[in-house]
Amino acid sequence: MAKKSMPSAAPPLPNSTYILGKHWAITYHKSPMALTNFGECDEGKCHIYLAEGESDIQSLKETLLHEIFHAMSKSLGMGLEERQVLPLGCAWYAWLRENPEQVAWILRD
Ligand SMILES: [Zn+2]
Repeated sequence: MAKKSMPSAAPPLPNSTYILGKHWAITYHKSPMALTNFGECDEGKCHIYLAEGESDIQSLKETLLHEIFHAMSKSLGMGLEERQVLPLGCAWYAWLRENPEQVAWILRD
């Protein structure tokens, strides 16, 4: 008897990441009141907070990239402003999605 293939479950949401060699925690918050935006980053605590209320997984991923750019900007003393960081998350998400071969090539040893 053939088994029905089950739809693959979505991969779990990441609960940590490395940014410029530092370990950062990632937590998700249901209450929109807990965050003033869809995401926040606390450089002092090496912590990224994301709102679970994001409309879709793509938005959540773009927000994570956005917060990573904030973290990089703060860590490197770049002083990027919100208007500069804002498009980076979306733009990098689009580039990563559109160029998986280059991403693999860049990560290859
Ligand atoms: Zn921001």
